[in-house]
Amino acid sequence: MENKTYIDQNGYRRFSDSDILVHRYLAEKKIGRKLKKQEVVHHKDRNKLNNSSYNLWVFPNQQAHDKVHKMDARKHGKKASYKGFEKDETAGCFLLFLIVISLFSFYKITL
Ligand SMILES: [Zn+2]
Repeated sequence: MENKTYIDQNGYRRFSDSDILVHRYLAEKKIGRKLKKQEVVHHKDRNKLNNSSYNLWVFPNQQAHDKVHKMDARKHGKKASYKGFEKDETAGCFLLFLIVISLFSFYKITL
């Protein structure tokens, strides 16, 4: 990307010219439409700066998003929940759960 970016107080990358959050911009590209205000973009690996397409998941609202973090906290400990964690043997199972949840949410909001 040509545009210059910076990292805001919350640890998210934004475009310097517009202050738009880069991960929300890229998520819109991924799903091919504008995000609704209530939709939350989640970083699958908990690394806020990993804005790769595979790492960005769109949840219909904050409540649905929170559920994933709560589950996360149970599996990886509270501390791990909002920061990155390495892949381990539970990651595959967790990933599958995320995919199912995401597909379900996506299906619901596009209907
Ligand atoms: Zn999240």
